[in-house]
Amino acid sequence: MECIDRFRLFLVESPIKMARLQGVGNIKGTVKRVLVEMTSTSGIVGWGEAAPWEVFTGTAEGAFAAIDVYLRPLVIGAPVKEIRALTHKMDKALVGHGEAKLAIEMAMFDILGKSCGLSIADLLGGRVRNEIPLSFSIADPDFEADMARMAEMVPAGHQLFKVKTGVKSHREDMVHLEAMREAFGDRLDLRIDYNQALHPFGAISVLRDVERFRPTFIEQPVPRECLLAMASFTETLDTPVLADESCFDAHDLMEIIRLKAADAISVKLMKAGGILKAQAQMAIADTARIPGYGGTLWEGGVALAAGTQFIAATPGISLGCEFYMPHHVLTEDVLEERIANRNGCVVVPDGPGLGIRVSETSLRGNARILAER
Ligand SMILES: [Mg+2]
Repeated sequence: MECIDRFRLFLVESPIKMARLQGVGNIKGTVKRVLVEMTSTSGIVGWGEAAPWEVFTGTAEGAFAAIDVYLRPLVIGAPVKEIRALTHKMDKALVGHGEAKLAIEMAMFDILGKSCGLSIADLLGGRVRNEIPLSFSIADPDFEADMARMAEMVPAGHQLFKVKTGVKSHREDMVHLEAMREAFGDRLDLRIDYNQALHPFGAISVLRDVERFRPTFIEQPVPRECLLAMASFTETLDTPVLADESCFDAHDLMEIIRLKAADAISVKLMKAGGILKAQAQMAIADTARIPGYGGTLWEGGVALAAGTQFIAATPGISLGCEFYMPHHVLTEDVLEERIANRNGCVVVPDGPGLGIRVSETSLRGNARILAER
């Protein structure tokens, strides 16, 4: 039986091109993540990535240790075909650390796909879309730099832009939203993301103000645990409310549905802790008629390839994705060739497994390796 035979683990740091102002955990300079390379008994190599964010889900160092100490012994010798059994084993052996478990599941799927010539989307039931609309986040501390980017991106076909609000003053947010609508009009599918920045007290008048700019949704206006405030906005506002930090996994989603605390959810593999878990979460969302949006943390090409395969095979994620890191933020990526973007969309790659190529050379050439085991 085809099993996992060899396992290598890397903690890497990649430089980024632009500062990102998010309100919590602002990003400047570099992002860290963990890569796993697994090899099966017949020599098929699969890759996985854990990209935690310390203010959101955890730390890259924590994921590295979780994989190295607690998960590696479960993975060595595991049958390549028994992915679900391995995910159960990992959950029993280690609480939390969803990103670490995801990295392993991703590499297993990569190997399984390569062993039978199928993409991960094929293994998940097959593609329902070949392209995913790509949202770019307006989060540069220098707003004029973002306006200059938009002036290039909009004519090239980009329509989805998500503005990070609540970091600067409400007045500045209003000026920026107005400037974007004025410059680009209704061609923009504008979304607004507060990253939990508002206090429930007084939030509704702020949200009513930003509604004037006809956003497609308002994401996570208040802290994650404020579900009753989220429910009141969902009830009161005309604009759909999207839960991100309030909705990590299927359990959170059940609570959101019970309290009617959102109209839509951001699904992130790093939050869900697995591709199968994210699909299970979307089955619940579909049943409740809640659409999904493909969110990210600070993921590189390997994790975003997994996200692309997942969304390609998950009909309910109809609000696009924000997989803009490799083309717009990372100065380099560990992939030999980045996943293509076309007309403002991410193109789902053909090819087996994740549909990407990673090599020792592309890894060592494009990322700084902080630790390897
Ligand atoms: Mg968000």
